[in-house]
Amino acid sequence: MKKSFGAVLAMMVAATAGCGQPTAEGRLGTQGTRSVRSYASFQQGDRQIVRIRFKDERQLETLSKLGLDLFENVDMQAGTVDGSVTARDEASLRQAGLTYQVLQRPAQVMEVAGSFMAGYHTVDSLYADYRKLVEAAPGIARIQTLGKSLQGNDIILIRITSKPEADLPGILIDSGHHARELPPVEVSFRLVSHLLSNYGKDERITRLIDTRDIWVVPVVNPDGRKNVESGDAWWRKNMRRNADGSQGVDINRNYDDHWTQGNNRGSADDFHGTAPNSEPETRVMAKVFDMKKFNVSVDIHNYGGMVLWPLGFSKEKTKDEVTYQKLADKMTKPIRYRAGSISRTLYNTYGDFSTWQYVKHGTIAFGIELNDSGFSPPFREVDEDWNEWRDNLLYLIDISADPRAAAARL
Ligand SMILES: [Zn+2]
Repeated sequence: MKKSFGAVLAMMVAATAGCGQPTAEGRLGTQGTRSVRSYASFQQGDRQIVRIRFKDERQLETLSKLGLDLFENVDMQAGTVDGSVTARDEASLRQAGLTYQVLQRPAQVMEVAGSFMAGYHTVDSLYADYRKLVEAAPGIARIQTLGKSLQGNDIILIRITSKPEADLPGILIDSGHHARELPPVEVSFRLVSHLLSNYGKDERITRLIDTRDIWVVPVVNPDGRKNVESGDAWWRKNMRRNADGSQGVDINRNYDDHWTQGNNRGSADDFHGTAPNSEPETRVMAKVFDMKKFNVSVDIHNYGGMVLWPLGFSKEKTKDEVTYQKLADKMTKPIRYRAGSISRTLYNTYGDFSTWQYVKHGTIAFGIELNDSGFSPPFREVDEDWNEWRDNLLYLIDISADPRAAAARL
C-alpha cells in the first residue's frame, strides 16, 4: 500500500504571515473555534513540509538533536525524513549542512483545507462510544479512569477478559501519546469493538477473551488531542507550560529510562520534560505496570509503515532481538512494513515508552507506525490500517501467554 503524501495537507492551513515563532512559543491559548480558519498554528509559525536528506547515521543523529518537528517516516536506505519547519528551523538545517526539498508550502496547504477531522472521534465522542460498547458487553469488559491528565481530563482504560480475578496473561495496547496522530486512536477503538462484538460468535475471539487479560489505553494524551481538535493540527506534546515560556512535554520522551540524554529544550517537539516521569500522563502509564504484568505490548503511532522495538537509546541488540525480529517478520510479511529496532530504524530516542517497558519490566514491547499518508489522513485510510492490523493485533493477543516461546516456534 503506497499512499500519497497529499493528505497531510488537509491539516495545515492559514499560517499567518509575519508570525514566525517556532513551535510552542508565544502561543495564544487553545480555545480557538473549530472553523477551518483556526487550524494549524498561527502559534507555531509559518511552516513548510520538507523532506530532509542525511548522508549517514551520524548526520541523522545530528539532525535528530536539532529539536525540529521530525516525522517518524525515516527512510534509512534513501537517507530521508520529513518534517514541518519554520524559517528558523530551516536556518539551523542549513547551518548543520543538511539539504532539504520543500514538499508543501503553506499556500498550497491552504487549498485543501476543510476535511480535517471528518470521520474521526473527538476525545469526548470516543469516550462516550467506549462507554456504550462496554455497557453492551457485561461480564467481559470494564471501563475505568486510570488518572487525570495535566488539565484534568480522564485517561481511561478498557479492560477485556471474562475472568478478571484469574490473573490471565496480560497485553497492553495504547494509542494517543502524540496528539496529532489521529488514526492510531481509531485502530485501538476498532480492535475493542471487534473483540466485544464477536465474543460468543467467533471461536478464536471467544477463546482470547476467556484466556487473556487485554488492557487498552486509547488516549494517553487527551489534553494534546483536545488541542488538536480545537485547531492546532500539528500539536504533538502535552499542554505543560514550560518555565522558558514554551509549551508541551513529549510524553513519549518522559519515561524513566536514559531520560537525561533526551532533548532539554522546551520549545523542541521532543522536549523530555523537567524530570523523568514529570508528567501526570507518564505517571498514569507507569502506574498501569503496578496493576498488572504485561508480557506483550503495542504502542500505536503513525505514520511511516514500521514495526519497531527497543532499544531506543542504543543500537545494541538485546537478548530478545531474535524474538522481536521473528515476531515482527511474521507481522510485516503480509503488509510490507519495515521492521527493526527504534535506534537502528529511526534515530536514537531517550525516555520512550517501548524501551522503558522492556528495560524496566521485560515486556516484549512493540511500537508501530501505521502506513498512513499523514498524521490526519482522509478517514478511509483508517479502514486500510484496520485491515492491515486486525490479524496482527489478534495474533499479539494470542501469543501474550508466552511471546518468546511463540517466536521460537516460528
Ligand atoms: Zn508518534
